[in-house]
Amino acid sequence: MNGQHALKALDAWRVAPGATLDLAALDADAHPASGGKRSTDEARLKDLGATLGELQGRLYANQQKAVLLVLQGMDASGKDGVVRRVFSQVSPLGVRAHAFAVPAGSETRHDFLWRVHAQTPPRGEIAIFNRSHYEDVVVASVRNLVPAPQVTRRLQHIRHFEQMLVDEGTVVLKLFLHLSYEEQGERLRDRLATREKQWKLQASDIADRAHWKTFRRAWERAIEATSTDAAPWYVVPANSRFQRDLMVAELMVHHLAALHLEYPPATLPPDTIIP
Ligand code: ADP
Repeated sequence: MNGQHALKALDAWRVAPGATLDLAALDADAHPASGGKRSTDEARLKDLGATLGELQGRLYANQQKAVLLVLQGMDASGKDGVVRRVFSQVSPLGVRAHAFAVPAGSETRHDFLWRVHAQTPPRGEIAIFNRSHYEDVVVASVRNLVPAPQVTRRLQHIRHFEQMLVDEGTVVLKLFLHLSYEEQGERLRDRLATREKQWKLQASDIADRAHWKTFRRAWERAIEATSTDAAPWYVVPANSRFQRDLMVAELMVHHLAALHLEYPPATLPPDTIIP
């Protein structure tokens, strides 16, 4: 699939501002970025990885824009995998990933966006959030950590915060890695059985799974309230790791390419003599 066709297909997975979102109605096995053939998809993903590296080089050289990629999804939906694989050809000088855990220490004594703002990317860089300020509305509402009116106000603060980032030169792209309940079960069972993965499985993951529908509703509500033209949400079908990566790579390349970043002009005349 070429870039333009891919983008049209992916647009159907963008959550339009004001639209309602019904995740249960969206197929987590869908392959919207696929051209239909595994071998061409593999070649495409390789190309996109290289293009992303090149575009990031321009972003870094240009120093005018920043990019923030927010990755969310239920446990085992592949947030770590996306960071590892989609960005493998991007220079570590220009990309930073940050994982947000349960707020601790001084974080708990500040407003919920304090620690988040501190990790937003400076111009010239890409930041990837593995979890984000959206935990402060989703987990907070599911676990009743804050009262409902405060969750509603936080959603409004998030919209304003992200709009401010966009106004100041940051591209904000938010992806919900959409896994089916069955596939999560497979992945959690695999974690339990695999020596190298056992450390990843926590009792809280099993407990959260029991509240799957409550979490899903909370995610729908948060996404509906915060998908804007300036900072859109996309749902990324994530039952296939490979197809998930392909779609994320396609979206990243599209959003970076849309910046039309040029390398800065040469500082020296071309006939400068280098001794
Ligand atoms: P992961 O599950 O992403 O591999 P961890 O095992 O460290 O990483 O889990 C991070 C945990 O922190 C998740 O359960 C997540 O819901 C929680 N968390 C992150 N941010 C917040 C927040 N702002 N409020 C409450 N819980 C949060």
